[in-house]
Amino acid sequence: MKIFNDINELRKHLEIYRTEGKTIGLVPTMGYLHKGHISLVQKSVKDNDITVLSIYVNPTQFGPTEDLDKYPKDLENDKKLAKEAGVDVIFIPTNSVMYLDNHATYVNVDNLTDNLCGKSRPTHFRGVTTIVTKLFNIVQPNGAYFGQKDAQQAIVIKKMVKDLNIPIDIIICPIVRENDGLALSSRNTYLNHEERNQATILYESLQKSKECIKNGEQSATIIKDMIKEMIEEKPSATIDYISIVNEDTLEDIDYFHGNILIALAVKIGQTRLIDNLRMEVI
Ligand code: AMP
Repeated sequence: MKIFNDINELRKHLEIYRTEGKTIGLVPTMGYLHKGHISLVQKSVKDNDITVLSIYVNPTQFGPTEDLDKYPKDLENDKKLAKEAGVDVIFIPTNSVMYLDNHATYVNVDNLTDNLCGKSRPTHFRGVTTIVTKLFNIVQPNGAYFGQKDAQQAIVIKKMVKDLNIPIDIIICPIVRENDGLALSSRNTYLNHEERNQATILYESLQKSKECIKNGEQSATIIKDMIKEMIEEKPSATIDYISIVNEDTLEDIDYFHGNILIALAVKIGQTRLIDNLRMEVI
């Protein structure tokens, strides 16, 4: 497994694979790897000859009051897990490598970034689409692997690739969860024991919603109220949003029909967690 911090050296190395006709998969992450990240790596290793993992905590996707400075790090463990999972190349750039002093170019996807996380994190997706575009241009992979855990991010990136004719397949992998349903996240490490127990309410309320919709409930308001009630029973929880949207437009819906996404963002103590559920309602 090779590790690069420098863009030109990484490019030179990847060029060798490319001239040999090898396919390259890219897994972009912010590090502090867990089994969710590893599931993306495993899919890439299965689909491609070479898998590149990037580890970069991208400052432009964090708001001024968010957790950029305390985002968890454990590079040695990341390297170990990456190697075990079959990663061929890790790219770990610094901020000065990724953003020159006079950086002035950003990628914006309109409309799809207005709702859900875009509402409470207004500059977040601009940061994500900019860094992902940069990583795509640096690595030039055949496919890039993202998690359904960040449902809006997945939809926004697919749209960006389509709109900008970027010749990269976007592969979305299922959410990996703990045994009690909590979606794996690097941020789960911030939770104390009590908060960790209460955090399962996101998954539980999504499962309950699925059951109600399957049993014929048609009103999004009723489901949102039910989720709200369940979450508000947990003393550590503060709701950021509970949204039920059309999966193509990410606009709120009143009644269930077609491909829908139920998406939650909830602060448990000081830790903002997200989770979601996709359903096809006929
Ligand atoms: P992050 O390091 O949090 O930016 O995540 C990097 C990638 O891993 C993103 O595409 C995430 O959607 C994905 N990911 C994070 N957590 C999970 C999970 N629990 N299951 C599947 N994918 C995940």
